[in-house]
Amino acid sequence: MADLNTDIRFLRGIGEKKALSFKKLGVFSLYDLVSFFPRKYEDRSLIVPIAESSPELPCCIKGIAADTPRLARIRRGMELVKFRVVDDSGSVDITYFNQNYLKDAFVKGETYCFYGRIEQSGNRRSMVNPVYEREYENKVTGRIMPVYRMTAGLSQKTVVDAVTQGLKECADRLPDIVPESIREKCQLVSSRYAYENIHFPSDFVTLELARRRFIFEELFVLCCALDTMHRDRTRENGIVLEERDVGEFYSYLPFTPTNAQKRAVSEAAADMRSGAVMNRLVQGDVGSGKTLVAAALIWLCCKSGYMCAFMAPTEILAEQHYVNLKELLEPMGIKVEKLTGSMTAKEKRLVKEKILSGECGLVVGTHALFSDDVEYNDLALVVTDEQHRFGVRQRSALISKGKKPHVLVMSATPIPRTLALMIYGDLDVSILDELPPGRQKVDTFTVDESYRQRLNGFIERLVGEGRQVFIVCPMVDENDDLPVKLRSATEHAEELKATFPQLKVDCVHGKMKPKDKDAAMSRFVAGETDILVATTVIEVGVDVPNAALMIIENAERFGLSQLHQLRGRVGRGKHKSYCVMVSDNKSDEVKARLKIMCNTNDGFKISEEDLRLRGPGDFFGQRQHGLPEMHIADLGADVRVMQQAQDEAKLLLSRDPLLEDKENELLRAQVDKLFTMGADSFN
Ligand code: ADP
Ligand code: MG
Repeated sequence: MADLNTDIRFLRGIGEKKALSFKKLGVFSLYDLVSFFPRKYEDRSLIVPIAESSPELPCCIKGIAADTPRLARIRRGMELVKFRVVDDSGSVDITYFNQNYLKDAFVKGETYCFYGRIEQSGNRRSMVNPVYEREYENKVTGRIMPVYRMTAGLSQKTVVDAVTQGLKECADRLPDIVPESIREKCQLVSSRYAYENIHFPSDFVTLELARRRFIFEELFVLCCALDTMHRDRTRENGIVLEERDVGEFYSYLPFTPTNAQKRAVSEAAADMRSGAVMNRLVQGDVGSGKTLVAAALIWLCCKSGYMCAFMAPTEILAEQHYVNLKELLEPMGIKVEKLTGSMTAKEKRLVKEKILSGECGLVVGTHALFSDDVEYNDLALVVTDEQHRFGVRQRSALISKGKKPHVLVMSATPIPRTLALMIYGDLDVSILDELPPGRQKVDTFTVDESYRQRLNGFIERLVGEGRQVFIVCPMVDENDDLPVKLRSATEHAEELKATFPQLKVDCVHGKMKPKDKDAAMSRFVAGETDILVATTVIEVGVDVPNAALMIIENAERFGLSQLHQLRGRVGRGKHKSYCVMVSDNKSDEVKARLKIMCNTNDGFKISEEDLRLRGPGDFFGQRQHGLPEMHIADLGADVRVMQQAQDEAKLLLSRDPLLEDKENELLRAQVDKLFTMGADSFN
């Protein structure tokens, strides 16, 4: 008697060799096998009359073998079996190469189905090596066929046969991970129906029902796991901050914080008083004032006598944050220091001493902040950038020193809340959905190559007014081997130097040494350069208030969120700012994307549109989210299912936090499994 754990060698036709091939695909047990979902499907459900078949796509036809197959030898080593098949509408010549045994597979007068590509020359139709079977067999024709991921030693047929057997053996044992009450409420099909139809759907509606169920199931388990993890973590003891009125901090500011900023600060402050370790993400559009939220929390910690660290992804950003935070915090009596890799050994040593003695309240820096030889005196809070999520290793390094600081992660990639909750795993999320008043919108345009001269005129005018210009190219170097010529940063910079001999043009890209890159960036920040040509290395938060024009070359090469990030580099000062996206690409998809950019400056709206255009699979696929690997990307989850799964998970866990009910037993096992697989990457 087989069960889900039975080795697939139990099945007919699966010997040691085939089992080995299956192993390469991650299939060991019958459960693995039935959970090995098709990569895609081939629609062979429609049988077309021979005369109406078209040569473009493969199709199914059904007809009578009009004669007995003949064996012909066309030349040495090349033999073929040939016969004619007719239906009410016409006829087709069927040919099989080098498969002589097929001579006896077809009987004159019998009806067969074929699936393949029709070739037509004049009035003659022919099919070469089509898939075939007898009428009514419906195994490989007249139905929707699954197509599986393959590896050497297997064929689609082997997998189909194995899955068919597997489903039969386990039909009544297929697990229903989602509790029945929820299944009913959310109208999810039963597990047997879902498993059978994800492999062998009778039609596309059925397939959709099966898919929806698996998407829900997967997301539901993920949500339960995240929630559970979150609960475990909030049991981890953290430094407890005393209650303090942030109003005092606010009163130092030259402006009033937005309500969103205040909300984020009080959410995080509550975390830090709770007794548990804070792990919070502040997500906000460019210019929403995330730094201020961090500064308020730093102030809170320092006022209670603790130290804070602020980690930036690059030296330049570290420098900028250092200057800004120093200016803001030192008048409030908080000493700010800097620690980066490029400092001299002596400078570093001095700062490390201050960190150890607690002489400074805040240290800003790059990952040098967490090298082994840095010891903190009462570190209460670490602020880090999304790009540099405080990794497991860094965290455990600190914990091994007996410290469990609160962690605040800042992200400038606005994404819809539902998605944020999943992608950022077990972090709590605060959203800054409000910009400080008086922010002006960056006027955005799409142009094609024919505007080049006018664009150059525009550059000249703005620089004449004292402004600076960013230009982003998709490539570093020349690229003659690409089908489409793309602007490369180095080449484009040379071209601009020739066009504007009177202007200072500089170039930065990822292939430069970090030192040279930083130097070029610093010159631009200092206003020594008029035009900076760059690759996307400038994407992250550099602040050049004097930059008023962002030109994005080959804009079709960038995703919406990336375009929005790039645009966020301008409009940071008092000057009217512009973004020009240059693209000769006229495809509807590109046009739709660029139009969204021209229509709105709201990062959340843009990410929603992005989600709508690309689907969440892309978000999960592209981002380094650290979630365990999902089938979602393949299955193409939809946002509503995601929301539903999240809501139901919350509801269920509020009733049965430890998943102890009998009904939730399978779910619990699945959640535990996810932990053991992905626990590390969640941090
Ligand atoms: P980002 O979220 O992109 O990191 P920053 O923290 O760099 O944004 O803030 C952008 C600019 O807005 C900074 O110059 C900051 O001083 C200013 N700022 C932040 N909050 C406010 C506010 N409530 N009112 C006015 N200006 C603000
Ligand atoms: Mg910033």
